[in-house]
Amino acid sequence: MPAESYIYPLPYELYEEQGIRRYGFHGTSHKYVSERVAAMLGKSLEGTKIITCHLGNGASLTAIKDGKSFDTSMGMTPLEGLVMGTRCGDIDPAIVTFLMNKDNMTADQVDNLMNKKSGVLGISGVSSDFRDIEEAAAEGNKRAQLALDKFAYTVKKYIGSYAAAMGGLDVLVFTAGLGENSAPARMQVCEGLEFLGVQIDETKNNIRGKEAEISKDGSKVKVYVIPTNEELMIARDTKALAVK
Ligand code: AMP
Repeated sequence: MPAESYIYPLPYELYEEQGIRRYGFHGTSHKYVSERVAAMLGKSLEGTKIITCHLGNGASLTAIKDGKSFDTSMGMTPLEGLVMGTRCGDIDPAIVTFLMNKDNMTADQVDNLMNKKSGVLGISGVSSDFRDIEEAAAEGNKRAQLALDKFAYTVKKYIGSYAAAMGGLDVLVFTAGLGENSAPARMQVCEGLEFLGVQIDETKNNIRGKEAEISKDGSKVKVYVIPTNEELMIARDTKALAVK
């Protein structure tokens, strides 16, 4: 990643002396689906601007320019970025000290609250499993609907910001449990992104767990569902390191 993507606006010594910087996670998954989509499109990663959306219980987006990670939503830990199953993602960091000072919570308690009790579970109060939340929302549960809305809204904002950061967008990829299986989630994320050239085909989007292009014919940005394969990627990387 470029330095301006990974550096935190904290005293620079924290980066130099303690390695406090953004690292990102789900790299094997983002790499696999970006290489796979380039192969499907018959394109080189060079000159292509891709955003990969790994949407599962843990969720992260990566902006990939010329085959390299340009920015990614998780940070020094997997807590940063998107709203997740039980993780809060981006919040005002002052909430941490507020809870410690006002509610006398310990560092471990706040850590547990942000990692295990937040995200769509925290907002909905129903579950961390998107299937349960989608079901509750369909039955009229307002907090479940709010959790789904907040999730999709956050993913959409990241897509917009990464398109701006890369100076454009050619391909958008959905992967992982929710990204591969939930047509309504993909639709909700893409609604309103037509101005970027993202046009989802409702019929093509009606698929689960298989490789497919789901954008309309003529959509400027090609949108794909690609089931991730982290095991294969790890095996390939291991082979590449072992056989030299
Ligand atoms: P992962 O962490 O990639 O295994 O993804 C797990 C998440 O994917 C869970 O929150 C599941 O609820 C969600 N998921 C899996 N299948 C579906 C589905 N058919 N509809 C909605 N969410 C799903």
